[in-house]
Amino acid sequence: LGNFVGFANLPDQVHRRSVRRGFQFTAMVVGESGLGKSTLINTLFENKLFDLEQRSRNAAPPPGTERGRTVGIESLSSDIEENGVKLRLTVVDTPGYGDFINNDDSWKPIVDNIEARFDAYLEQENRVNRAKLIDNRIHACIYFIQPTGHSLKPLDIEFMRRLHTKVNLIPVIAKADTLTDDEVTAFKRRILNDIHHHQIQIFQPPVYENEDEETIAENEEILSKVPFAIVGSDTVVSTADGRHVRGRAYPWGTIEVDNEGHCDFVKLRQMLIHTHMEELREHTNDVLYEGYRSEKLIAMGV
Ligand code: GDP
Ligand code: MG
Repeated sequence: LGNFVGFANLPDQVHRRSVRRGFQFTAMVVGESGLGKSTLINTLFENKLFDLEQRSRNAAPPPGTERGRTVGIESLSSDIEENGVKLRLTVVDTPGYGDFINNDDSWKPIVDNIEARFDAYLEQENRVNRAKLIDNRIHACIYFIQPTGHSLKPLDIEFMRRLHTKVNLIPVIAKADTLTDDEVTAFKRRILNDIHHHQIQIFQPPVYENEDEETIAENEEILSKVPFAIVGSDTVVSTADGRHVRGRAYPWGTIEVDNEGHCDFVKLRQMLIHTHMEELREHTNDVLYEGYRSEKLIAMGV
C-alpha cells in the first residue's frame, strides 16, 4: 500500500478499539471553484500507482471519465484495511463558490451540511440502543486558498470564521505549482498572519511531551508546512530521468505530486490518515461536537 495508509500504527489502545469496531474518518474540501478540490480527492484516492485492493467498487469514477464541475455536495468513500484494522475513509466534495456576483451566503450550505451530520450523530446518541454509532461527522476540513501570493480574501476570512467552530480547519495553498518556492514561503507567512489577525482557529494538535523524539520531530515537520502547498493531478507524466509519476508537466520540467521536495501533498495525506487522524477525531468529538451539542440544548431550553 505504499505510504497511503498508516492508521494501523495508531497508539495501542486506539488500535485495539478500532480493530474491534472498525472506524470512520471523513474529510471535506472547501474553497472557490476551480482551485483543484475535486482533483485533490482523486489524487488522494488514486489507484493507478497505489494498489488499493480493499477499495470499494464505487470509490472512484471509472478510469477515463471526465470530471465535470461539482454541482452539489458529494462524497466518495473507500474501505481500507491494514493489519486487520478497518477504516472507512470518506471525502466530501463541495461545489466551489465565487461564481456569483453575490457570494454573501455561499458558506451556508456547507455549514448546514456539517451541522446536519452533528444532528444525525446526536440523534443516535439519544436512542436507547446506542451500540453502534455511525460517525459521519466531518473530522477535517481542507480549506483551499487561491495562489494569489498576496493575502486572504474577505470571502476566505468570512468562510473560515463561519467554519472554525464547527470543524478542524486545515488551510492549503491550491495549485502551488503556479508559485515559485520563495513565493510559497512568503505566501504561507502572510496567510498565517491573516489567520492570526482575524482570530481564526485552525487545527492545532496537542503536543504530548512523553512522546518519543522521532514522533515529536515528525509532527513538528508536518505542522511546519501548514498551510500545505498542494499540487493535485490524476495523470501520470514522465520525468526528465524517465520515471513515471503523478504530476504536472511543464516545458521547464515536471512537478511531482508525491515528491516532498516539490509540494506538501504527502505531508497533508500523512497528517490526515496517519499522524493526526486520532487527534482530528478526538477534537471533533470532544470540542467541536460537544460545543454544538450544548449550544443546541441551551437553545432548546433543556
Ligand atoms: P474544483 O472546482 O476546486 O473542484 O477544481 P477541479 O479539481 O475541478 O480543477 C479545476 C482545474 O484546475 C482543472 O483543469 C484541473 O486540472 C486543474 N488543477 C487541479 N489541481 C491543480 C494543481 O494543483 N495545479 C494546477 N496547475 N492545476 C490544477
Ligand atoms: Mg469540484
